[in-house]
Amino acid sequence: MLMIIVQPPRALRVEMARWAVQQTPKVRTCSTTEFAVPAHLFTHIPEEVLAGSVVDGQRYISPDPQPEPAAVVAPGPADPPQETLHTAPDNPHTAHTTPLTTTPDTTTPDSAPYPCGACPREFTTQRGRDMHRRQAHPEVD
Ligand SMILES: [Zn+2]
Repeated sequence: MLMIIVQPPRALRVEMARWAVQQTPKVRTCSTTEFAVPAHLFTHIPEEVLAGSVVDGQRYISPDPQPEPAAVVAPGPADPPQETLHTAPDNPHTAHTTPLTTTPDTTTPDSAPYPCGACPREFTTQRGRDMHRRQAHPEVD
């Protein structure tokens, strides 16, 4: 029978011995620190016991490497867009150069061609102006 010599680390020796006595037939030790495990039982050794053990004189390497926790991708946008604060160049030469064009306000009676003359009122017709002057300013005429 092919036997595999397993030398567990000191911390796991008790656990390895506990596992050994549970096998049928019992796994026996071949020395104070080594267990002679039948080949068909080797795969039944608890992984935590095998980890760090010396198997047939070689350091045991776990066939199942732990997944890299760094592979976890952080959720959310990984690269938020930069807040580009492109302020418009404040050119003092071009600023405030817009002429304040006074658009002609046609709603105001400024264009009334017939001012009263005695008061600020203005009238669009001479007849209206005369009527106003006779009623409001009888002393002028
Ligand atoms: Zn008047």
